[in-house]
Amino acid sequence: MNIILFGPPGAGKGTQGDYLVKDLNFYKISTGDLLRNEINKKTKLGIQIKTTIDRGSLVANTIIKDLVENTISYHSVTKNLIFDGYPRNLNQVNDLDYLLKKYVKKISCVLNLKVSEEIITKRILGRELCEKCGRIFNQFFNPSTEKNHPCGSQYLQKRSDDKKQIIITRYSTYTKETLPVLDYYKNVNLLHEIDGDDKISNIYEEIRRIIDPLGT
Ligand code: ADP
Repeated sequence: MNIILFGPPGAGKGTQGDYLVKDLNFYKISTGDLLRNEINKKTKLGIQIKTTIDRGSLVANTIIKDLVENTISYHSVTKNLIFDGYPRNLNQVNDLDYLLKKYVKKISCVLNLKVSEEIITKRILGRELCEKCGRIFNQFFNPSTEKNHPCGSQYLQKRSDDKKQIIITRYSTYTKETLPVLDYYKNVNLLHEIDGDDKISNIYEEIRRIIDPLGT
């Protein structure tokens, strides 16, 4: 089974994807994470990617396609895949279709986390990432505590694109370029809508209600 997690920036795709990885042994392909890995390498490409991300725009499709193909080709045999934050425009939908055919895979469902703009802003402004264990927390909704996070708060970091002005541009990029992707998956009957404003645990239950009957 291969799944696409869809939704605006800050919808909680990463959080839900991590739960699915832990419980159901998926491999998660997050294009945002792949890009941030590239930035951390401090290559020329990484610097170029950081400039684009910090503007709130989408990174070029060719760069994304290469990163995704490297990952799919490596993990294609053993694992079911979750795509998080990909595809983000109609060209990427075509690229993904091409890659799925090449590696003999199919998308089983597309889960759309629907979230209001007000909640998105709060989720993004509160978002913190542990640089040691990679887990995502939120100051307002899911704070890191001594009990739930043994690494401690000194490892928590904010993303450089999680600033108020950039969030507005990211949301408008989403509306203009990414939303049309939904119609495509609706037309091929793969789309499931989920109330992403709900609590993390309720959203996860809803996701499991949808995917568990689909088998493996
Ligand atoms: P969010 O979903 O909160 O925006 P991500 O980590 O998925 O967070 O993405 C962060 C940024 O990385 C995006 O704003 C965009 O600039 C870039 N990005 C991520 N995925 C893609 C993609 N598939 N195509 C183009 N750019 C992408």
